[in-house]
Amino acid sequence: MMFETTIAGSLPKPAWLAEEHKLWPQWKSSGPELAQAKLEATLLWIKAQEDAGLDILTDGEQSRQHFVHGFLEQVEGIDFVHKVEMGIRADRYKAMVPQVVAPLKLKGRVHGAEARFLRAHTQRRIKFTLPGPMTIVDTVADRHYGDRAALAMAFAELLNEEARALAADGVDVIQFDEPAFNVYTDDVLAWGVKALERAAQCLTALGVKTAVHICYGYGIPANVEWKKTLGEQWRQYERIFPALAASSIEQVSLECQHSHVPPELMALLQGKDVLVGVIDVASDAVETPEEVADTIGRALQFVPRHRLFACTNCGMAPMDREVAMAKLRALAAGAKMARERYADR
Ligand SMILES: [Zn+2]
Repeated sequence: MMFETTIAGSLPKPAWLAEEHKLWPQWKSSGPELAQAKLEATLLWIKAQEDAGLDILTDGEQSRQHFVHGFLEQVEGIDFVHKVEMGIRADRYKAMVPQVVAPLKLKGRVHGAEARFLRAHTQRRIKFTLPGPMTIVDTVADRHYGDRAALAMAFAELLNEEARALAADGVDVIQFDEPAFNVYTDDVLAWGVKALERAAQCLTALGVKTAVHICYGYGIPANVEWKKTLGEQWRQYERIFPALAASSIEQVSLECQHSHVPPELMALLQGKDVLVGVIDVASDAVETPEEVADTIGRALQFVPRHRLFACTNCGMAPMDREVAMAKLRALAAGAKMARERYADR
């Protein structure tokens, strides 16, 4: 089937699980009660994605406070007690980040419980998201390695360890989130793609599809302001995509709907599956199925039909729950419409 549907990854957390509309929300409970609440929220979103008609499901990242720090909590060598304020994404916004203080090592499984829970509760294919090495490096303060490339490679090894375990849990797609790729394009070419490939090593041989998600960030005010400085045409992908096309990564998730990315840049991803963002996560206006089908049609000029997936621009974590729900339905309905509209093109 063409134009299969999936989301970038995250979904809003219910008010009974965590604070709403926040990127680093506080949990509403702790201990076993919190563990149970995370899984119940996951179940709710599995059902919502199935009801909407999506093809490849995620856990909505209901079990992690933030898409980067959720992973770091299981890494030895990181001081979470003494967080420091740091400008991240080239100082676009400030965040309280943990510090790398010793050689890195996994304490154990990171996402085993939620991956197995997701696998147990849907018959559909499932995707699991992990932060990419460069994005992790950009979201911690390094007091030990002293070199971003070396630190990225150290994280890549840990990510690979967890990713292989996720493959054994029955995950079909593993996606690394690398919003930092759009910020440090020189580093992407120097060591970013190499670190990403290290994180994804052997996954294809284990029967798992590998993906990378590169976006211009959540729809939070700091990002909206930053996007205004990027000019009429956002051409960051132009430098990154040829390197990704030459890499072992199989799928690329990118922004399209309401984005200033010139759609012809998608043609640079020859040989890759392209997860086209047809849902804007920076706006509460819900796309109509016609709009979604139109965006798919635009992408179809540059991406072969069997390579084209319909996706969201980015995660929906900070959004309103009802809006996110409606956008899931629009995504599936729009892809269905596109299948009929472009059936014989
Ligand atoms: Zn994103």
